[in-house]
Amino acid sequence: MFQKVHLHLAVLCGSITAFILLIMSLGYLYISEQGLKENSFSSFQNDMNTLITNLEHQSVITHEWLTRMEDGGKYLIHITDNGVPFLFNERETAEEKQLFREAWEAWEDSPSEITSAAFSDIYHTEFLFSPKESSGRDYYACAAVAEKSSGSLRVMILSPLDPLSAQINRQRFLFFTLDILAVIALSFFAWHFTKRILKPLEENQKKQTQFIAAASHELRTPLAVILSCASASGKAEGSVRAHFLDAIQSEGMRMSKLIDDLLLLTTADNKGWSIKTAPVEPDTLLLNLYEAFQPVAAEKNIALSITLPEETAPTITGDRERITQVLSILLHNALSYTPSGGAVRLTLTCHGKNILFSVEDNGIGIPDAEKERIFERFYRSDKSRSKKGHFGLGLCIAAEIIHAHRGKISVKDTPGGGSTFIVTL
Ligand code: ADP
Repeated sequence: MFQKVHLHLAVLCGSITAFILLIMSLGYLYISEQGLKENSFSSFQNDMNTLITNLEHQSVITHEWLTRMEDGGKYLIHITDNGVPFLFNERETAEEKQLFREAWEAWEDSPSEITSAAFSDIYHTEFLFSPKESSGRDYYACAAVAEKSSGSLRVMILSPLDPLSAQINRQRFLFFTLDILAVIALSFFAWHFTKRILKPLEENQKKQTQFIAAASHELRTPLAVILSCASASGKAEGSVRAHFLDAIQSEGMRMSKLIDDLLLLTTADNKGWSIKTAPVEPDTLLLNLYEAFQPVAAEKNIALSITLPEETAPTITGDRERITQVLSILLHNALSYTPSGGAVRLTLTCHGKNILFSVEDNGIGIPDAEKERIFERFYRSDKSRSKKGHFGLGLCIAAEIIHAHRGKISVKDTPGGGSTFIVTL
C-alpha cells in the first residue's frame, strides 16, 4: 500500500513542481526572446542611422564604399538613382532582384506602420520584412529616400535575421536542455522526498500492526484459560468448581490489567501523555513507594531497603501519579526478577538540578544484547516468558512517561550481579 502511495505522491509532487518550473521558464524564455528581438531591431536602426548619415556625406557613392558598407554580407544594399539601379547592383542574382522588388512593395503597402526619421534631406524607415518567396527567411529592412535637385535617390538595405534566429534557437535549446535536467532532478528529489516523508508513517503502521498482533496474542492465552475453565466448572462440583472459578477470576484480572496497559499506550499514541505537572517532593514519593512495597518484598523474602540524601532533596516539577507509576513498574520488576533471599535497594541522589532515582537488585540481571530491547513493546526475555502478569509493556510505558517529562531512563548491571534502573528527572 505504501509503495503505491509513495509512487502517487512522487508523481504528483514531481509533476506539480515540473509544471510550475516549465511555466516559469517559458515565461522567462518569452521575455528574453522579446528583449533579444527589440535589442536587435534597435541595433539595426542605429546601424542604419550611421549608414545613412555616412551616405549623405558621400559626394560620390563608389563601389568600394558600398562593398565596405555591406560588411561581408551582413547587409544587402540596393540603390536606384531616378529609378535606374546603380552599376553596383548589376551583380545581383535574379532572387535578390525579386527580394528588393518585394521589399519596396512592402514599404509602399504599409508606410503608415513604419516610423520614419529624416536626416536633412534623406528619409529612412526600418521595418520587418518577410518575403513571400523566401523559405522562412526574414529580414530587417531600411528604406531610404532622398529627393535631390538632381532627382530622387532610393536606397533599400536588407539585413537577414539568420544570426538572430540562430541565437534564439540556441537559447531555446539551452532552456529545453536545462528544463529536462531540472525535471529529472525534480523527479529524483520528489521520489526521495516523498519516501522520507512516508518513512515514519510506514514504520508507525508497521509498529501498529505488530502491536495489534502481539496484543491479540497476549489476550488469547488468558481467554483460552477462561473458556476452558468455564466449560470445566459446569461439570465440576464443590472445591474443584471453586478452583476453576478462582482461575477464571485471576485470568480475568490479568486480561483487565493488559487491557488497561494497552489502552494507556494507545491513548498516549493518539493524544500524547496527559501529564499534570505539579511540585513533587522526590524523597516523600520514594518513601511512600518503599512503604507500599515492603509487604510484597517481605512475602517474597527479599530485603527491600531505601537510601535518601542527608539533606532534603529539591522539589521537582512533574506528574506525581505518573512518576510513582514508573517507579512501581521498576520496583515490581526488581521484585519479580530477584529470587527469594535477594535484595532490592531504592536510592535517591541529587546532581545539581537533576534528581536520580535508582532501583537496584541482585537478581537474574539483563544481558547486554537485551538492554536496549527491553524498552520495546511486548519485549520479554525468554527466561521471563513464563512469568504470569508480565506482558512486556511495563518498561515501555515507563520510558514513554519519562520521555514526556523530558527525563532519561537507563539500565546497567549491578556490581556483583543483577540490574540497576536509573531514572533522571
Ligand atoms: P514485563 O511485564 O515482562 O516485566 P517489562 O517491559 O517491564 O515487561 O520488562 C521487559 C523485560 O525486561 C522483562 O520481560 C525482563 O526480561 C526484563 N527485565 C525488566 N526488569 C528486569 C529486572 N529488574 N531484572 C531482570 N530483567 C528485567
